[in-house]
Amino acid sequence: MFDLQSAAFISLAAAPGDEPEHEPAYWFLFQGDKLLVRPGPTLVAVPEARDASELGIRPAHVQFMGYLQDAHGERKPCYSGDVDPSTPLPDGMQVEGLRELHAQLGDTLFGLAGRAVQIAAWDRTHQFCGQCGAHTQTLGHERAKRCPECGMTSYPRLSPAIIIAVTRRTEAGNLLLMARNHRFPPGRYSVVAGFVEPGESLEDAARREVREETAIRIKNIRYFGSQPWPFPNSLMIGFTAEYDCGEIVIEEAEIADARWFAADEMPRLPPKISIARRLIDWFLAENGGGPVQEW
Ligand SMILES: [Zn+2]
Repeated sequence: MFDLQSAAFISLAAAPGDEPEHEPAYWFLFQGDKLLVRPGPTLVAVPEARDASELGIRPAHVQFMGYLQDAHGERKPCYSGDVDPSTPLPDGMQVEGLRELHAQLGDTLFGLAGRAVQIAAWDRTHQFCGQCGAHTQTLGHERAKRCPECGMTSYPRLSPAIIIAVTRRTEAGNLLLMARNHRFPPGRYSVVAGFVEPGESLEDAARREVREETAIRIKNIRYFGSQPWPFPNSLMIGFTAEYDCGEIVIEEAEIADARWFAADEMPRLPPKISIARRLIDWFLAENGGGPVQEW
């Protein structure tokens, strides 16, 4: 009996040809960015089968991802794939957005689904060479595709983004800089984040994003942690920093508001799955904040 709780993922670009029979595989199949799931009485399940045809559906593209291996050495193969939007779904299955599935799938399967959606998107969008237009070939020894005509190699796209908790010491206590994006639900604030530009270090990007969005200058940038964020292909790299100088002036095109918040006056915050929330929770733990509302 496969023990998901103890399982760790082993990434492989291709299935070994001579492996013995395995447990049925997990199939992370996507229609657009939505995952195919089997709703159960309480939780949804990722479909399991030895072959996609057992599921009654034919994916347009399939990639082997690797194995989940439990503490007893049992291995479950994992596949990603995408299903054409016009393909009818098998009875008893539906597609759901990944964000909504986090609580139901748990960390391990949610993490794999996030990996799968990025591999499936890369597979779908790199069937042809971006340089000469020839049909690409998927390589077996690494997660890459190579053009047989011009030799160009493509890898799954990752877009690094920095996210940063800027704190400010005041006589009344420590404050946290948070901003509201125009797209946020009403009342929600979060720490500053933005994509890294070509040629920038992560620290450069952190300084630039905070300055652009709020006009605040920062110092003492420290690494905090990172998180893959598959919406659609970010890698979030978290930092903390201290206020150096400046007063808040928001960049109105992107930001609706930005303020300094004390730990006991938190607004609505991002959900627990995000590193944004881990950074805010770090500030609250350091500064004795009370319970906060999640939206
Ligand atoms: Zn080419």
